[in-house]
Amino acid sequence: MEECPVEAITLDEEEGIAVVDEEECVDCGACEENCTLGAIEVE
Ligand code: SF4
Repeated sequence: MEECPVEAITLDEEEGIAVVDEEECVDCGACEENCTLGAIEVE
């Protein structure tokens, strides 16, 4: 996903959701700002 500076977000195609890799995530909040639906799920 373009919003994530460390590319920690991958799309789970089976579930149709965005999944955040917590080890890669730097908690910058860009994804939350960009996702108004709250579709980001942290593993
Ligand atoms: S908060 Fe979101 S955009 Fe920022 S590093 Fe984590 S997953 Fe990526």
